[in-house]
Formats: sequence, C-alpha cells, structure tokens
Amino acid sequence: MKTVQAYRFALDLTPGQERGVLAHAGAARVAHNWALARVKAVMDQRAAERTYGVTEELLTPAVSWSLPALRKAWNAAKTDVAPWWRECSKEAFNTGLDALARALKNWSDSRTGKRAGRPVGFPRFKSRRRSTPAVRFTTGTIRVEPDRQHVVLPRLGRLKLHESGRKLARRIDNGTARIMSATVRRDGGRWHVSFCVEVERAERRPTRPESTIGVDVGITNLAVLSTGETEPNPRHLTAARQRLRHLGRALSRKTGPDRRTGRRPSNRWQRASARLGRAHARVANLRRDSLHKLTTRLAHEHGAIVVEDLNVTGMLANRRLARHIADAGLGELRRQLVYKTQWSGGRLIVADRWYPSSKTCSGCGTVKTKLALSERTYHCQTCGLTIDRDHNAALNLAALAAQYDTAGSGPVAARRADQKTRQRGQVAVKREPGTATADQTGTVPPQGRDYRPCAH
Ligand SMILES: [Zn+2]
Repeated sequence: MKTVQAYRFALDLTPGQERGVLAHAGAARVAHNWALARVKAVMDQRAAERTYGVTEELLTPAVSWSLPALRKAWNAAKTDVAPWWRECSKEAFNTGLDALARALKNWSDSRTGKRAGRPVGFPRFKSRRRSTPAVRFTTGTIRVEPDRQHVVLPRLGRLKLHESGRKLARRIDNGTARIMSATVRRDGGRWHVSFCVEVERAERRPTRPESTIGVDVGITNLAVLSTGETEPNPRHLTAARQRLRHLGRALSRKTGPDRRTGRRPSNRWQRASARLGRAHARVANLRRDSLHKLTTRLAHEHGAIVVEDLNVTGMLANRRLARHIADAGLGELRRQLVYKTQWSGGRLIVADRWYPSSKTCSGCGTVKTKLALSERTYHCQTCGLTIDRDHNAALNLAALAAQYDTAGSGPVAARRADQKTRQRGQVAVKREPGTATADQTGTVPPQGRDYRPCAH
C-alpha cells in the first residue's frame, strides 16, 4: 500500500544556520508579497476601469495566478526587486510563490462555490513579525546522513537533528520510502524539519480482527473505552497547564504591542511571550504524544473502532476550555484513527452526529431527554443501571458496530438532522471527501432503539 506521510524531526541549528534559514524564509516572504502586490494592482486597475465603463476587451489584461506563471514573472523581475537573489536557493522564492498560488486558488474556488467549508479570504501580505518562518525544498540534495543524526538540505548544508532520524533512514535504506520534499519551519519556538515521504507499507491485519471497541473522548480522562478501561491524561499535563496560567498572567503585566497607538512590545514582553509559546507547545506535544500512543494501540489490536462525530454546534455553543480541549482531542483522535485503521487493515465507524451516546442507557436502551455535563455518573430510572458516564457512552458506541453490520444494504432513516442544525452557514461540513474510503468508514444512523424519554 502506497501512502504519503510526514516525518518530522526537531533540529539543533547553529546561530549561523539559523540565520541562513531565516534568510531563505525572508526570501520566500519577499517573493510572496511582491507577487501578491502585482496580482492585486492588476485586479484593482481592472475594477477601476470597469467603473469608468471600459469594455471588457479593452481592460488591462488579467495576470495568471498559476505557479508557473508567477514563477516566470518573478524570474523576469527578480534582478530589480531582489538584487540579492543569488544568495538564496530558488526553492525559497518558490515556497512563497507556491503559497500564494494556492491561497489565490482557494479564495477564488471559495467565492465561486467550488470549495466547501468556511469562506476563504483574499490572501494577505506576510509580515516579518507575524508569519511563521518556513522554507520548502523539492529538488536538490535532500537526505538523511548515515549517522542518522544529521540531514543534508540544498544550500543550508548539514543540519544536526535533535532526535534520531532512524525511523526514516531505515525505510530509505530498505527502499520502502522516497523523500518528495523537506520543509524547515520554526514552530513552538523550535526549528523542525518535516519530510514529505512516499512510503510503501506492508499489508497488515489487526491482532484481534473480530474485536469491536467504542471510544469516548472525555474531559477528566483522555479517553474511555467500552471495555471499561480508562486512558488517563498524560502525567505532566496538569503541571504544564498550571505553568501556562502562571506565564499568561506574567505576560499580561508587561507592555505588549498596541495596534491602535502603534506601540511596539517591550523586550520583557517578547521574552515572556516566547516562554508562553513554548509552554503552549509543550501542552500540545504531551497531548499529541499520548493520543498517538492510544490510536496506534487501538488500530493495531481491534478490527472495528467506533467513535462519535464531532459535535460542531455544541462546540460553537460552549466556549468553556475543558469542553474545547476534549473536542479538539476528538478531532485529532478521529484524524489519526482514519489513517491508522487503513494502515492496520481495520475499520473505523463514525456514529451519526445526533446519536445520543451519552444520554442512552447501555443496559436497556432508554434515552434521557436531559443530561447535564456535570453528571459524571449515569443513573437509569428504567432499569436502575448505575455506570460511569463516559463508559456508558463508549458501550453505546461499541453496540452501534453490531447494528452497522446487520443493517444490510438499505440506509435506515435517521432523525432529521436539519431540525437541530440552525446555523446553516456556520456548521462545518461533516465529512470531507478523501478522508476515508467508502468500505472502511461509515456513518451509522441511530436505529434499533426507539426514542423513549425516561419516566420521572
Ligand atoms: Zn436503563
């Protein structure tokens, strides 16, 4: 099975190398901003001419937005715009032009309705202070050194890896991987190199193909499984969150930037802001690491995994941090499970967005009309079942897989989703095309259990 995946490693750059990467990132920004200004000028000119009543054929000719056209225009102008262009790899300018070509396409597709999802705005100029420095290499010498502690990139040369590159090097050595591009980027206050790699993966089977598991992403725990197993939050997360609050307060006491008066931030504010950024990155890393460990274990072991769909409207309604974190975790859990079940040969089943996994009794199927988020234990008034809230939800999800298997070919009518979906414009698309193949992922409409509110 051929897949395209990313291998990302932290880098330890010397000050000289850091200057080199920043110069390349700056070159990308210059090319991006120059090309954007050019496209914008022509668009504005044409719009102005139209208001004077100039006929379409006499208008200033439109400029092409495609990457080859932008590159051609840049090469013709670079000696005037950037006389220093020889100092940087051509890939640097290409990075900026490619980003612009894609941004313009997204904007135009969004406007003409070709692109689903939230409306995309017109590209903006990149600022040295606010944009993430990045440069992408698609040609030239890109390799992991035999010592697996260094990578070689065009112009930048030999860069030291902060962690071992053996996972990628092993695949390249045995011929199951081919590097397509490498991107150097600063995120979370640290430099990373990210390789886009085409990997030939061996076909796999889960160790227990007949096993089905329901996963409920919780607030107090990372996840609760239908086996009753709870996956606790990473150990250092609480400490990291406390530090986050502490640093946030420290930052707010310092003189920050003010766009209205044009005040520049103080050096102390910038240092505090960098500290806060690193703390944020650490929290994200802790969560991502434990989510990866959980999803890898689940995908390797179980034949079918059932998760709930993202509650988009719920996320919009409830801005509380805890709920947000849980929902963000759910989105990431699902994203990882989609590709990991494909790699391991398992199945991922996504429950319908309106399936009441928390409100349904896993013992008798009674559905409660109301269940506050603060009620951590589920009490069933009908059959007297008392069970942990998240475990109950996970059991319901696992039970859905059985219905999915016996449902046959005919789709079963779900409750009308549009009755609950009010904010049409704001609700994100439920499933993006291309995230899963048809035979491995499916939606299960709520069925088999009728809607009976509990008697009080
Ligand atoms: Zn019950």
